[in-house]
Amino acid sequence: MAGILFIISAPSGSGKSTLVSELRKQVSGVDFSVSWTTRAPRGSEENGREYHFTTREEFERMRDAGMFLEYAEVFGNYYGTARQSLDEARRMGHDLLLDIDVQGAAQVRKALPEAVSIFVMPPTPKVLRTRLRNRSRAEGGVNEAELYRRLSEASKEIENYRDYGYILVNDILDRTVAQLEAIVLAERFYRNGEPIAFRSSRVLEVAAACRQSNSQERLKPVLEAFGILNPSGQQQLNFDEESDDD
Ligand code: ADP
Ligand code: 5GP
Repeated sequence: MAGILFIISAPSGSGKSTLVSELRKQVSGVDFSVSWTTRAPRGSEENGREYHFTTREEFERMRDAGMFLEYAEVFGNYYGTARQSLDEARRMGHDLLLDIDVQGAAQVRKALPEAVSIFVMPPTPKVLRTRLRNRSRAEGGVNEAELYRRLSEASKEIENYRDYGYILVNDILDRTVAQLEAIVLAERFYRNGEPIAFRSSRVLEVAAACRQSNSQERLKPVLEAFGILNPSGQQQLNFDEESDDD
């Protein structure tokens, strides 16, 4: 059986890591590619588990040696996927999941157009800010400059949503996890003829509803909230604390 390559991208703080870790608890046979990065470990992160942490010099050496399937500079740090991850998953016939940014996803899609790509959006800018802030607090402190940087990048990243086959709006966690699981099972069914053990027609329906081509109505309020569907063409993002009613 040929493994499927899944790409998942999202603005930082949308809940992508949470979704991926929940998916891995529910579905077997999906390997997760541990990326290389030059950023410092955060919170309880461990070298080799969330990332392979390295220096800029070492990253550049690996890049120049052609060791990366894709790489990008995100928030001032390098991030890259080692070719070895893909080779290993292929050898084992496993599916492989890449958690990478929109620049990296574009590189992978170009090299491997058969990849299944999934974009995760937060429901509103306000929810995104709250999640980023809560995560920073849980990890030992809020860095306002870093927080602002990640928030300002979010709408630019969301603008790329049309390049992805599936779109998830991560509002209620359990529902989004079920949607992600349905996408994986549906792709296995369509590509490899793998049977779906439980309520297969429902699973296929859930996955189909997440296809980008079927998502316009569902996405409209999210895109408007991020200033992407504003008829005036103006970006009207507002992440200010004062504007909140919570
Ligand atoms: P990312 O990997 O996209 O940067 P994380 O998975 O670290 O984001 O999630 C950011 C924060 O939001 C975490 O504190 C996480 O527990 C929380 N979170 C994720 N998904 C949800 C959700 N659906 N509802 C509420 N909180 C969530
Ligand atoms: P974080 O620092 O929050 O873990 O990740 C920041 C961003 O880098 C996220 O959008 C994440 O998807 C992206 N990222 C993580 N690993 C890779 C990678 O190997 N390649 C690319 N291009 N982006 C990555």
